[in-house]
Amino acid sequence: MPEQATRGPLYRALLERGVSRRAFLRFSAAMTAALALPPAYVAQIVGALEQAPRIPVIWREGQDCAGNTEAFLRASDPSVTEILLDILSVDYHEVLMAPSGLAAEASMLSTMESFPDGYILVIEGSIPTAEGGVYCTIGGRTFESIVREVAEHALAVIAVGSCAFDGGLPAAGAGPTGAVGVQALVPGARIINLPGCPMNPANLTATIVHYLTFGRLPATDTANRPYFAYGKLIHDQCERRSHFERGEFVLSWNDEGSRKAWCLYKMGCKGPATLANCPTIRFNEGTNWPVKAGHGCVGCTMSGFWDQMSPFYRRLPATPGFASDVTADQLGVGLVAVVAGLTVAHGAASYARRRRAVARERMAALPAGAAATAETPAATAETPGVRDGPVDAAAPAGPEGHEKPEPTEGTDA
Ligand code: SF4
Repeated sequence: MPEQATRGPLYRALLERGVSRRAFLRFSAAMTAALALPPAYVAQIVGALEQAPRIPVIWREGQDCAGNTEAFLRASDPSVTEILLDILSVDYHEVLMAPSGLAAEASMLSTMESFPDGYILVIEGSIPTAEGGVYCTIGGRTFESIVREVAEHALAVIAVGSCAFDGGLPAAGAGPTGAVGVQALVPGARIINLPGCPMNPANLTATIVHYLTFGRLPATDTANRPYFAYGKLIHDQCERRSHFERGEFVLSWNDEGSRKAWCLYKMGCKGPATLANCPTIRFNEGTNWPVKAGHGCVGCTMSGFWDQMSPFYRRLPATPGFASDVTADQLGVGLVAVVAGLTVAHGAASYARRRRAVARERMAALPAGAAATAETPAATAETPGVRDGPVDAAAPAGPEGHEKPEPTEGTDA
């Protein structure tokens, strides 16, 4: 029996499009990794995708810059064409579809009628609600009314980008349009938020693959962000982390530390307070992400980041409202300054570890009798050069940016 006859519509479409078995397996492995699943799940994802239906997608765009569409167009594994036409089956996307005007609207209505309760709605951009929603109208209708109507019968609503998450830039400061995110407009809908400026398209595809494989949407935090993509702090996955541990910081653009790719914390990096998988998924076919390219994280996956995370080039302050969802979901503590506190604790722990290591080295160098005397905590604390000087004394006379993490790191403005 031909292979196509035993497979589901999605896999048949991939075969017809010339996608090789090797590319399909590579894609499945990449999705397993994106979902933060062990390699043992690759077979399950392969099996599910082989039999999966093609889920129709309606992609509506409101008050935004189209940055998420741009990111989507640069998706890889598989190529955007394969995602568009085979896996996601995007039936409506104002930027990417051939029809326009009334024909485009007819295409969307046709999808809604053909797949009642069976399509996925992707929303890009914020939704203006001031003045009756007149700040964004499409085909004579407000975007607000369109979202309400299409979301009502959607299998799930995926809000891509920071604007669709919580209003983003249009909602920052005293934005006049009354911009809100999807979950504020249709709180009863099944919503997955993929914030970011822009979102990572791999997270969108992985969310769909999770649904096709396990028959349910991925687990989320209280902000409806999937744990697989927003479950860890950027700081804990960053390739510059070892420099943070060693107290090696960039202190000005183009100094020696920046040329050596040291930690960007003192240049305002918000990685210690930001949840996202950017360091592992990366952008542009997995080649790079902001911190690797030399710019600090601006915290764009967090609530109200334009207001809460700025100034972007000042080191983390304990700003009210800072990373409040981190404290609620990750730490179970209601204090908004916990993330900054963690950074303090982390700096203090690194400093203490360094002191202990230096003290051990000095003790080992002492004569046997002197070492026995110095082993009491009090004696160690009072040993000249151990309490006050060993870290600085032991550290190489490095460049300007080579500093030890002080116990007060992360709390100063
Ligand atoms: Fe990476 Fe920023 Fe953390 Fe430094 S502060 S380790 S650059 S995430």
